[in-house]
Amino acid sequence: MFLYFGTRSSRLKERKLQGNTTCPNCEIHNSFIATTFGKYFHVFWIPLFPLFKTTILECSHCKKSYHQKEIPVNINRVLLKDNQLNPVKTPLWQWSGSLILIVLFLFTFIPAVIYLFTYERKTDPREIDPRKELLNYDIDKTSSTPTLETDSISFYLKPCVSSSLEGINMDGIKYYSKIEKNKLLVLLKATNMRKIETSSRKELLFAVEDCLLDFGLLETYDCYIGVDGLWSMLLVKTPNGSSLSGKYADTSLLYRFYDTDTVPIYNNDSIPATN
Ligand SMILES: [Zn+2]
Repeated sequence: MFLYFGTRSSRLKERKLQGNTTCPNCEIHNSFIATTFGKYFHVFWIPLFPLFKTTILECSHCKKSYHQKEIPVNINRVLLKDNQLNPVKTPLWQWSGSLILIVLFLFTFIPAVIYLFTYERKTDPREIDPRKELLNYDIDKTSSTPTLETDSISFYLKPCVSSSLEGINMDGIKYYSKIEKNKLLVLLKATNMRKIETSSRKELLFAVEDCLLDFGLLETYDCYIGVDGLWSMLLVKTPNGSSLSGKYADTSLLYRFYDTDTVPIYNNDSIPATN
């Protein structure tokens, strides 16, 4: 981002210099007008903080001006005394940028801290679906190089899917699979699907299904297949329903995989019977 910053000065006060002075140029007495400037640091012309002040003297008779550094010692003494008697105040507006930053800080940081400290208490652990956590845990285990020892289904699935599809960069796709009793979970993590139209994305899921059919797994197990994208689940196919739009698939369809046969870990649509 282009950031424009630097220093600027503004005229703070102009007054006739009181005291016994003589202009070295025209030798007229008590002819000086003292003008004090305040320098400040700015960002995009918004004053952030004041830096220092300088005073320039001008002889009202001959118009010769003197910078603070070149004022003769005797006149400077008069000027210092004048500054002590009538000090030039730094105006508050030279702090305006800093004040804005402080206000912004207070309005963003403090609510964030309050949120963080109250979040734990507000979130009832019973409201967190444990199956969601389990699914995220498994998505995290997807690998682009599944091995025969650790994940044999993914080991065979990856080359099978790659050979049946063209136009998708298969190297970037990660795999994970696991079996629980009669259920098979197959997860794919595809982070580079942006170039593929959402309508064509389901081909990836169908390719997985075809391979599982070839392996004889599709008939043996209830298959839960999920294709996760960079930001969200893209495709889901389960015995209970599918979500094949290629965008924002219904992740909860996969949750059933984590339900045990007898007692669901957690289920939104059924209340356990109590006697
Ligand atoms: Zn003069």
